[in-house]
Amino acid sequence: MKFSENSDQAADYLRQAVPAMVKYEIVPNPLNYTLWYSYYSNAFPALNKELDQTIERYGTCPNEVGEALFIQHITQLDKGSEKQLESFHKTFSHMVDNLSISLDKTAQQTTCYSQALMDNLEVLSTHEVDSAITPLLTQLSKNASAICSANEEFQGRLTVAQTEINSLRAELEQSKKEANTDPLTGLSNRRVLESIYHRFVEESGESEALAMIIMDIDKFKIFNDTHGHLVGDQILKFVGHLLRKECKYPLVPVRFGGEEFALLCPRYDIKKAQQVAENIRVKLSSIVFNNKRTGDKIPPVTASFGVAIKKHGDILNSVIERADQALYAAKSAGRNQVMLAN
Ligand code: GH3
Ligand code: MG
Ligand code: MG
Repeated sequence: MKFSENSDQAADYLRQAVPAMVKYEIVPNPLNYTLWYSYYSNAFPALNKELDQTIERYGTCPNEVGEALFIQHITQLDKGSEKQLESFHKTFSHMVDNLSISLDKTAQQTTCYSQALMDNLEVLSTHEVDSAITPLLTQLSKNASAICSANEEFQGRLTVAQTEINSLRAELEQSKKEANTDPLTGLSNRRVLESIYHRFVEESGESEALAMIIMDIDKFKIFNDTHGHLVGDQILKFVGHLLRKECKYPLVPVRFGGEEFALLCPRYDIKKAQQVAENIRVKLSSIVFNNKRTGDKIPPVTASFGVAIKKHGDILNSVIERADQALYAAKSAGRNQVMLAN
């Protein structure tokens, strides 16, 4: 875990990163924040070395160098990095929000300070003061104004960065969704089934029942050969729609690959899971499809089902394997039926 610090530590790193970014005139976008945050948290020592060399060479970190360093050192995290990055983004955007508030306060305080100086200066100008002090006071006042406008400018850039972080978060969310979804049917994919299975087993231990249904469309190769691959795709899409409609929480329907689907049934015993499979089998086989292009009727599409339950000490693959064996038995027995595993 590269970013395992608590929020105080994290805020501390960011407090160091921001002035450095201002100093080296680094564009405050999420990528650069991440880069400089990583620098101060020393998460990637090799990155620090290269960033030091870059600053020494250019007096700043040019955008293209920053991007290259980011890709090289930060995006290539170890396994499970997606989660790390996600939680990092969460902490990070939270910190930027806080930073924005505290900068706002600082800007207000600096304005007050600058104004007070100006007022005092005016008062002083009506009195006789040592002429050597006046330029010093003027300078002080100028400095305060400069800090104030630098703060305001940074505040503006920070607001832009916040917007970018928000869209980055949305993009992250979207790409996560895409990575978990089968584009043809809109169903979740096997990865989702695996992660829900593992979470369920982790949370409920061996105490809760769990069933698995594997469903495979019958003679789909012949179907494609007869009606064309595009019509085949429409059937798969429809099956996706049917499964979403029929499988309400806690059932999890996924496309396993090709014309094969799986249904995870947490807290279902074999009888209840059999009913789910039987319901889908009947619904699918009773639908009359038409070829949209030719208007011809298409003979019913059927599927075979294998149902298994998780046994004590089973890993996911063992459950899938038993459901698969039951599915083959259903195929051998003539298809369009549900078989239960031993
Ligand atoms: P069985 O009843 O024994 O399951 O016969 P089958 O023809 O369904 O099984 P087989 O494994 O021989 O063929 C699977 C077919 O599924 C072949 C392949 O063209 C088709 N298929 C797999 N994925 C897709 C897809 O995304 N779109 C379409 N249209 N067809 C697909
Ligand atoms: Mg098939
Ligand atoms: Mg198959």
